[in-house]
Amino acid sequence: MNHYDLILLGAGHAHLGVLRRWALVERPPGRIALLSAGPQAWYSGMLPGLLAGRFAAEDCRIELDPLCRAAKVELLIGQAVGLEPAQRQVRLADGRELSGRWLSLNLGAEVACPPQRGAAMQVLAVKPFADFLAGWHAWQAEPQPLAILGGGAAGVELALALAGQVPELSLFCAGQLLDGHNAGLHLRAWGHLRQRRVRVREYCPVSLIDGERLLSGAEPVWRGSRLLLASGARALPWLARSGLDCDEGGFVRIGATLQSQSHAAIFAVGDCASLPGARKSGVYAVRQGPVLAANLAAALRGQPLRPYRPQRHSLALLATGDGGALLGWRQWSAGGRFCGRWKDYLDQGFIRRHSLPG
Ligand SMILES: Cc1cc2nc3c(=O)[nH]c(=O)nc-3n(C[C@H](O)[C@H](O)[C@H](O)COP(=O)(O)OP(=O)(O)OC[C@H]3O[C@@H](n4cnc5c(N)ncnc54)[C@H](O)[C@@H]3O)c2cc1C
Repeated sequence: MNHYDLILLGAGHAHLGVLRRWALVERPPGRIALLSAGPQAWYSGMLPGLLAGRFAAEDCRIELDPLCRAAKVELLIGQAVGLEPAQRQVRLADGRELSGRWLSLNLGAEVACPPQRGAAMQVLAVKPFADFLAGWHAWQAEPQPLAILGGGAAGVELALALAGQVPELSLFCAGQLLDGHNAGLHLRAWGHLRQRRVRVREYCPVSLIDGERLLSGAEPVWRGSRLLLASGARALPWLARSGLDCDEGGFVRIGATLQSQSHAAIFAVGDCASLPGARKSGVYAVRQGPVLAANLAAALRGQPLRPYRPQRHSLALLATGDGGALLGWRQWSAGGRFCGRWKDYLDQGFIRRHSLPG
């Protein structure tokens, strides 16, 4: 058993911010490790641009080894498959066991998938990104009609990035397209999707993959053999089963200090956590980073913790696949090349800030 003062589980957005701060300012005392499923952290904001051929893979990911070396944090590559919260023990897929005085979870989430009957439909989830990209490249050796499940920001960006690369593309939304975003952004997105000949089905929740058909209730709504899932966050099953207090979706309930409601020595942030007011998006995970860094350092030093307050509004910037972007802020919307350049500036800035020489 490897024992640490603190283990950061998952190289999510908030943990990248924690490592950067500790590399640039002051690292708290103790033996600290980052557990990551792979040697790089992919940045989802640039994935649509990568698929549209605007970026290379190495532009869209952060090398963890130099970042960890700069922060004096051990990098462990492995997949967590079990957690014992009372002992703060973590089991890895390769049989290793780790334990920590403190744990911090920034593990993201899986992509929800409807039940599937038969194996005729090839199904590819957008996460984990490395697996998705490998699967997508294999598919593109022989392009075929494609359905995308998920009418949120990710589904729209993927549809716009991929529309010119397959013979036919359909986008299925359980509710309204871009639900939760303002009406102007909704209309602009419709315009772009129509221009690229994407067939959009709103209020069409797909409930079953039946052979080569997608069913919504009893109604067959699409026939084909390739389905891409961008259908919202589903909790990691092993985490939901761990005994940590979780919400009805299986996400770890946390309080304002970002600590688990049931186990105070375990912090959780980003998509794997559940906190009223904090949405499941990279923007919120990034904003949790500075508070998490301060609170982990305070916990290791035995000092008081500070609260995180989710922002009430967040800026939406959706890539349109042609170098442009759509912008939504409260009730305002805009679109075009200028928004695209701004999105690129913000995204590339994120990658640059976390790419330390080590
Ligand atoms: C195509 C697409 C575009 C998007 N664009 C945006 C955008 O522009 N802006 C925005 O705010 N949001 C965007 N999102 C949503 C965003 O990706 C997520 O909300 C965000 O990544 C959540 O961040 P996180 O820090 O919680 O976790 P993640 O960024 O998902 O990171 C989780 C990390 O944990 C690791 N991990 C997972 N399981 C294990 C395990 N068992 N063991 C070890 N490591 C593990 C993963 O490998 C990963 O490195 C987009 C999503 C998609 C799919």
